[in-house]
Amino acid sequence: MAKTTVESEAPWTAGGEIPVSGEAAASGEVRDVKRTTCCVVGGGPGGAVLALLLARKGVDVTLLEAHPDFDREFRGDTLHPSVMEIMDQLGLADRLLELRHSKVSSLTLQTADGPFTPADLSRLKTKFPYITIMPQTSFLEFIAGEAKKYPSFRLVMGARVRELVEEDGVVRGVRYEDEGGRHEVRAALTVGADGRGSRTRKLAGIEPKKTSPPMDVLWFRLPREDEDPAGVVGRFGRGHIAVMLDRDDYWQAGYVIPKGTFPELRREGVEELRRQFGELAPEFADRLGHLTDWRQVSLLSVESSRCEKWHKPGLLLIGDAAHVMSPVAGVGINYAIQDAVEAANILTGPLQKNQERLVPVDEKRLAAVQRRRELPTRLIQALQAQVQRNILAPALGSNAPFSPPLPLRLLPRIPVLRNIPGRLIGFGLRKVYVKD
Ligand SMILES: Cc1cc2nc3c(=O)[nH]c(=O)nc-3n(C[C@H](O)[C@H](O)[C@H](O)COP(=O)(O)OP(=O)(O)OC[C@H]3O[C@@H](n4cnc5c(N)ncnc54)[C@H](O)[C@@H]3O)c2cc1C
Repeated sequence: MAKTTVESEAPWTAGGEIPVSGEAAASGEVRDVKRTTCCVVGGGPGGAVLALLLARKGVDVTLLEAHPDFDREFRGDTLHPSVMEIMDQLGLADRLLELRHSKVSSLTLQTADGPFTPADLSRLKTKFPYITIMPQTSFLEFIAGEAKKYPSFRLVMGARVRELVEEDGVVRGVRYEDEGGRHEVRAALTVGADGRGSRTRKLAGIEPKKTSPPMDVLWFRLPREDEDPAGVVGRFGRGHIAVMLDRDDYWQAGYVIPKGTFPELRREGVEELRRQFGELAPEFADRLGHLTDWRQVSLLSVESSRCEKWHKPGLLLIGDAAHVMSPVAGVGINYAIQDAVEAANILTGPLQKNQERLVPVDEKRLAAVQRRRELPTRLIQALQAQVQRNILAPALGSNAPFSPPLPLRLLPRIPVLRNIPGRLIGFGLRKVYVKD
């Protein structure tokens, strides 16, 4: 790779454009080199919220998103109370709730012993004692729209990051491709918020440690009818789990299968999926005829992982790039956004001081972000592993009707303990606040 030469090293100001030398331009390598104080790779919940938080503090931030739009199907659509409190602190909650959404305050499972509610958020002491279910597209468009109100925010859609710009072992920015060719962004800090398959993480040579949850999930849409119940519906039994998420005008159906069994089910045909799902959730059997083709079904290969180190000089990883969360309790978005808030709390000051000369942020500050977020992440991943081991794996491994283990059945009956699951799902180990 030919090195891009810039004509001038100083004075650089964030947001400025550095002309590319004749040599580099002629080679077709990089069309332009832009400067920004913080370059965020990935416009998912973590990256978009971080960019907004930095921009509102006047930090020059460039958000690079590989997709041409925020449209996405079957991604996390759950905003937990912690996210809503963060939105409220930013003065955005009311407007966010004007967008189409539904609310779920408890999860009820139909078990062999009747309905069982392991987690109830309605008793949480918060303005938002429920999970807000909203298409991720609407949430991301809303956040990007807010960020665009700040002049120090720049969003590049369709920008696929291909390389890190590294000098003497320090990440100084990225190179990306878009329709117009290759571009370079130089920054005091690069944040990899590019999700579970993070390219920035791979380029930085950081390997996540993976665990193997015992299941995969098939997602598909089913029609919703006026008389249907609202919220989330869960069914355990016959070696499978069905989850129905109320999406207002349709159901997002999730069918949890033992890991690695999808090829076999696929061979049996979509009619076998219809049959199995209909047995588990007979009240939805009447509309399974809409499911006629595997192209309507999306496979989520369930993963859980965490990086030992979330940073290297000049680079910080947040969200799924640093830790992929199991879908148990649907906390992935929550954790990505909490990472973004803690990163902004710790890094806004150093970045503000660094606007003129892009001196890389001291790595100790990046380590402080990881320290702040690692324990909550470890804790919830350990709890998810327990649920997977003691509830999901046995349920997936047996055709007998599901009966929750005794300690879990007792939990809702003990007043001092019964709020713990709701609190852990809603907020995690501790509440996260935006420091102003
Ligand atoms: C099918 C499915 C269902 C899920 N359901 C839930 C749920 O109900 N609740 C929940 O909380 N979580 C759920 N999750 C997980 C949740 O979506 C993630 O935990 C969350 O989105 C992580 O946010 P993030 O910002 O870290 O990464 P992501 O949301 O993955 O965003 C990463 C962004 O980076 C972009 N990107 C990737 N590579 C590049 C590149 N090279 N250059 C530029 N941009 C790039 C991507 O296009 C993407 O927009 C689900 C995930 C899946 C796959």
